[in-house]
Amino acid sequence: EKKTIEDLPGVGEATAEKLRENGYDDIMAIAVASPKDLSDVTGIGEGAAAKIIAAARKFADIGNFETGEEILERRKSIQKLTTGSKNLDDLLGGGLETQAITEFFGEFGSGKTQIMHQLAVNCTLPKEKGGFDSDVMMIDTENTFRPERIIQMAKSKGADPDETLKRIHVARAYNSHHQILLAEKAQDTAKEYNIKLLIVDSLTAHFRSEYVGRGSLAERQQLLNKHMHDLLRFGTIYNAVIAVTNQVSARPDVFFGDPMAPIGGNIVGHTATFRIYLRKSKGGKRIARLIDSPYLPEGETVIQISEEGVSD
Ligand code: ADP
Ligand code: MG
Repeated sequence: EKKTIEDLPGVGEATAEKLRENGYDDIMAIAVASPKDLSDVTGIGEGAAAKIIAAARKFADIGNFETGEEILERRKSIQKLTTGSKNLDDLLGGGLETQAITEFFGEFGSGKTQIMHQLAVNCTLPKEKGGFDSDVMMIDTENTFRPERIIQMAKSKGADPDETLKRIHVARAYNSHHQILLAEKAQDTAKEYNIKLLIVDSLTAHFRSEYVGRGSLAERQQLLNKHMHDLLRFGTIYNAVIAVTNQVSARPDVFFGDPMAPIGGNIVGHTATFRIYLRKSKGGKRIARLIDSPYLPEGETVIQISEEGVSD
């Protein structure tokens, strides 16, 4: 049967409670933690924390190694979803990949939510039109989902707006905890539909507003890390595209070049497979820059956001 954190030697009721409060709520979370982190949140010594971690590693199903051949086989099932812009698709090597997280980050008004709407519509389109002929799940944290916008975009693609709306399943997340729960639950909910796209718009807004100050940074990163891994697992299980948005904040230490950096630091950066930085340009134009891809060159392109949606 499944072990709980109380099953770990050295973890009593009080320690378990402190661990849970800080997001270490299952064996795996503890197995991959550092002694210092556990010591910080529980107040027990680092030596005792190391023993707890060692026990957790014995219990945890850390995961098996896969051969290169197995990974290649899994990668063969990867599909690519069009963004609506040929330029952006080309930059991404053909579109957004399934089994990966693609992050769009940029300032307010840079077009992140517009792109999420367009991806949702595109996912429902037939295969000939670059779609997956599949349903979409969206976690909306800022209450910016607009069915009216879906209708506009669907019409411009020659799709039935009502049918399109029926295939987009939206949940509003009221805080970061709710957002995490929705992502956990998404794996079950998805069984009822044929989901090939999971959107989180915005990935970081709740975390940013709820965890302020240095003291809460470690906890925020820990929870974001868990959340992103839940999303990635969803992408792998359902061979689905995961698209998330992220804000930027100005780094006070940058005097030359672009001081805007995405929220969430290394945690988000390392878990997202593709990162696209959006900047406003003249008219409805946006500059999209690909950053940090595992196998594509860095580069940028121009896309257009109009009444019809996202295009070149
Ligand atoms: P973000 O999510 O990055 O804050 P949005 O995706 O909400 O930004 O982008 C908002 C911008 O999208 C608006 O400022 C406008 O330029 C453009 N936009 C939104 N709706 C339409 C529309 N119906 N027609 C043309 N442009 C639109
Ligand atoms: Mg937005």
